[in-house]
Amino acid sequence: MSQATIPGKPDVVLIGAGIMSATLGTMLKELEPSLTITMLETLDDCAEESSKAWNNAGTGHAANCELNYTSQRPDGSVDISRAIEVNVEFDLSRQLWAYLVKKRAIADPRAFIHPCPHMSFVWGKENVEFLQARFKAMSAHHCYHGMEYSEDRKQIANWAPLIIEGRDDNEPIAATRIVTGTDVDYGSLTHLLVAQLSAQPGFSAHYEQRVVGLEREGDGRWRVEIEDVERREIHAVSAKFVFIGAGGGALPLLEKSRIPEGHGYGGFPVSGIWLRCDLPAVCDRHHAKVYGKAAQGSPPMSVPHLDTRIIGGSRSLLFGPYAGFSTRFLKHGSLTDLFRSIEPGNIFPMLAVARDNAALSEYLIGQVLQTSAHQFAALQQFFPTAKRHEWQQAVAGQRVQIIKPDKEHTGVLEFGTELIAAEDRSLVALLGASPGASTAAFIAIGVLQKCFPGELTESAWLPKLKQIIPTYGIDLRQDADACRRTRAETAPLLKIENI
Ligand SMILES: Cc1cc2nc3c(=O)[nH]c(=O)nc-3n(C[C@H](O)[C@H](O)[C@H](O)COP(=O)(O)OP(=O)(O)OC[C@H]3O[C@@H](n4cnc5c(N)ncnc54)[C@H](O)[C@@H]3O)c2cc1C
Repeated sequence: MSQATIPGKPDVVLIGAGIMSATLGTMLKELEPSLTITMLETLDDCAEESSKAWNNAGTGHAANCELNYTSQRPDGSVDISRAIEVNVEFDLSRQLWAYLVKKRAIADPRAFIHPCPHMSFVWGKENVEFLQARFKAMSAHHCYHGMEYSEDRKQIANWAPLIIEGRDDNEPIAATRIVTGTDVDYGSLTHLLVAQLSAQPGFSAHYEQRVVGLEREGDGRWRVEIEDVERREIHAVSAKFVFIGAGGGALPLLEKSRIPEGHGYGGFPVSGIWLRCDLPAVCDRHHAKVYGKAAQGSPPMSVPHLDTRIIGGSRSLLFGPYAGFSTRFLKHGSLTDLFRSIEPGNIFPMLAVARDNAALSEYLIGQVLQTSAHQFAALQQFFPTAKRHEWQQAVAGQRVQIIKPDKEHTGVLEFGTELIAAEDRSLVALLGASPGASTAAFIAIGVLQKCFPGELTESAWLPKLKQIIPTYGIDLRQDADACRRTRAETAPLLKIENI
């Protein structure tokens, strides 16, 4: 839609047309169909940045087998508390998607989600002991019902032959598997969500419209200044509520809003490279997402994995990501992004992070200096008989990790996501990137709780919210029956496995 058709006074402006804005828009329109919502996007389509299928790993992050969510305690036992949190956050996304399938707003879940077993795979005695301890803790919890463990080469080859063929027989190995895992095409999902929103009155998405300014108006609304990318013209709309769901572009917009709650925040960009193989002879022999152990100092989202991807009906394999450093905040961003984000308020937190994270800096420098031969050698640790000419390099999306002001350390680096809201609840920004798209419903609920507490009541939005998210208000980490029930109900609707 062109600039001329952008409504001048919408209730809600969603900045960015990725999975997060699409999910929040969907929830708001379900809860209050009369809301007028305007989505503004710099690029010429939705889901062209991190949410695009090839820019992320497509994991339905249930923290099943990603080893970075579980740390080992000094006594050798494994702390699974963070993994369980992420695990049940994914249940909220499953419920939202199942609701949309049930009401036929999404015709076929196979357009965006496929069953795909998740596995952890380790080698070396110490790592095998770690995986054993992790399995012991996880398999005892109802959230991980059905997880399997094996040190038997034949069994593991049965699960994923490519990781065993050509491997040294004397090396101790171990794997866990959970067949209820998923591969998700978040790009396709974003398109489906924006399409069903666009079919509703009061919603419109506008492309090639970059938000360049945010200013409070006298009546508490926000003046959203927009640049028409094609015509290079500036115009503005006035919104009651603004969601900054601009991915890597969120930090500069938060800074422009000048809300005191955003003071001192900075960003640290991490880029990524995949190795990708599309050959059916290879891809048809691997059906899993296989996670290994991270290298020393690596950021948690850079644990290497060998993933089955199902995108547009075709199967591929992705390996990586190899993390790197780039000063861009978005894949389509500018090399000056990082420098332009530095302000008097965040320079000290940023310098403190540089001082306190030498291992991460060392890791990233090491990754940047890796040649393609080094990258291929890392793949061969997972897939020993991989042939170099069958794999090509592909550039992944950018992630901007949060640098947060901190009383004790001046600044700390955060690997999660954070919602930063204005005191009067009229604006909220989403910063950070991990676990990510799979927790979009959890994040949208967080926005509702932070910014619309007055509407989340029995006489207003709550009954409808409980229709969309039947376990709303129930702690699935504690309530095993509710957890089993929601998984049994959502799995057939989403055509994924349940055990
Ligand atoms: C390498 C990698 C692997 C990942 N793997 C996974 C995974 O396996 N599972 C998972 O759940 N998550 C994963 N993620 C994270 C996930 O991709 C992101 O959390 C999610 O896509 C973020 O969605 P978003 O809508 O916030 O941002 P985006 O999809 O980046 O969308 C933001 C949009 O805002 C637009 N924009 C920016 N600035 C402006 C502006 N000023 N005006 C207008 N528009 C603007 C951008 O053009 C963009 O389209 C991964 C990410 C990366 C990079």
